[in-house]
Amino acid sequence: MAEPLKEATNFIEQIINEDIESGKVTEIQTRFPPEPNGYLHIGHVKSMLVNFGTAQKYGGKCNLFFDDTNPSKEKTEFVDAIRRDIHWIGYDWAKEVYASDFFDTIYAYAERLITEGKAFVDDLSPEEISATRGTLTQPGTESPYKNRSAEENLKLFREMRAGKYADGEKCLRAKIDMASPNMNMRDPVIYRILHCTHHRTGDKWCIYPMYDYAHPICDYLQGVTHSLCTLEFEDHRPLYDWVGIQLGFSPKPRQIEFARLAVTNTVMSKRYLKKLVEDNFVHGWDDPRMPTIAGLRNRGVPPEALLSFCEKAGIVKANSVCESGYLESCIRDNLNENAERAMAVISPLKVVLTNYEGEEELEFPRHPLKEELGVRKTAFSNELYIDESDFSLDPPPKYQRLKQGGYVRLKNAYIIRCDEVITDSDGKVKELRCTYVPESRSSHDTSGIKVKGTIQWVNAKTGVDAEIRRYGYLLKDAAYPGQDFSERMNEQSETIFYGKAEPYLAEAKDDTAFQLMRVGYFKKCTDEHGRLVLSEIVSLKDNYNK
Ligand code: ATP
Ligand code: MG
Repeated sequence: MAEPLKEATNFIEQIINEDIESGKVTEIQTRFPPEPNGYLHIGHVKSMLVNFGTAQKYGGKCNLFFDDTNPSKEKTEFVDAIRRDIHWIGYDWAKEVYASDFFDTIYAYAERLITEGKAFVDDLSPEEISATRGTLTQPGTESPYKNRSAEENLKLFREMRAGKYADGEKCLRAKIDMASPNMNMRDPVIYRILHCTHHRTGDKWCIYPMYDYAHPICDYLQGVTHSLCTLEFEDHRPLYDWVGIQLGFSPKPRQIEFARLAVTNTVMSKRYLKKLVEDNFVHGWDDPRMPTIAGLRNRGVPPEALLSFCEKAGIVKANSVCESGYLESCIRDNLNENAERAMAVISPLKVVLTNYEGEEELEFPRHPLKEELGVRKTAFSNELYIDESDFSLDPPPKYQRLKQGGYVRLKNAYIIRCDEVITDSDGKVKELRCTYVPESRSSHDTSGIKVKGTIQWVNAKTGVDAEIRRYGYLLKDAAYPGQDFSERMNEQSETIFYGKAEPYLAEAKDDTAFQLMRVGYFKKCTDEHGRLVLSEIVSLKDNYNK
């Protein structure tokens, strides 16, 4: 008996269900097809979710397919990074396949198209070809070389392969229809001459197949049933199908397009990301501000948060742009659940408690939502740091934090009162002299004093220096049409503070995420000199309106 159909949760699954029901396919085979010309970004996580995720759901297989038909831009470094990034997201592939694995077959198919009169060698230059392609309202003009005999075409094509011609001197074009309303069907170039060493095939080839021609062949040779790609390939589908029909593929893979993921305040395409790296706007592909998987990993974002974001963004047919705040709220939801709490101050201001003597260990819940994790101890003494921003010399009405003569609660510790403010010769606040209320210890408070504000603090005697890195968006604002992204760069996307942190943070394992109370979620790292660095993953403030 046939297995019951899976419930479709998006339009791709609906199509797959139809194909299963009609008996067209039994086992689902997909492929995730990056070009190894850069690092993967969060948009690729969506493509992974679609390709790996759909195969998983249907008990099928997904290959990792490297689309390496552009040797001048491709490198082994990128292949390695892509493999690593997919594993980090949590997927694994059935087979690792390269377009270049199939170069011989792709070439043989081209000879077959030539023999059958379906392709010709053109002597027009790339510029001439593009000038004779016509426009959306005007048909193109046929190449004067279109009517060469099959024998002559075959001879010329073999000479192309043998290296007789220079780049651009000749090319192979499919014979389709110069009057087609679809520009992609106007005798598209399917092979070009490129004297370039390939990262895998070396100098074996000096002609390379074009993506639109190679892709359906590679899909077919891998047994792909559903070739899932982004919407910009919709207009290429007739060509994809043309290749399959001419070459008699059976069963023919089916191309289905879905919307690209786009996020505000950042660039997404590898091409632009590369420019940010090359122009030294960021520190590298894995800079924590980059939307690359390597950058997000380095930022401390959990892979589950990325998958959850892509899932919620949805697999749909219409392009749209997601707010960066939505991505952040997915990251925050994950970390709120999983990150332990700790304290640090970004801009330390010294507090001396004039009536406190000795030292004690106070209890500190590791996670307010997870009582089972219990408490840890944190030292308290008469010398503390609070954050500069939690004291005001000139407070607005209803100010809830510390002011002269006012009270505030130190988180999980005592209520203190500010008695005296010590300033330097420029009037800058240097130190606060305070008294603490002994009977006000958190969860044992019998003082009867009502305070509105609670602030974080660090014990000055045990606290450690911390470099605290905070991040803003790469791009300032939304685009307006035609504008180059380089005009929208946020020049202040990285800010460094020299603060103080609980020693507990310095002792934690590198890469652990913490919620620094009232500040944000940070990843603990150690710099090359062994010093503590706290690097912002996401702020606490949720600007996103769910
Ligand atoms: P880029 O413009 O960043 O180079 P690309 O489309 O050229 O992207 P590839 O490496 O060729 O990138 O893409 C691998 C797969 O990932 C393709 O199927 C592509 O459609 C998909 N993909 C790329 N960007 C996105 C995105 N923003 N959202 C969803 N899928 C994407
Ligand atoms: Mg590309």
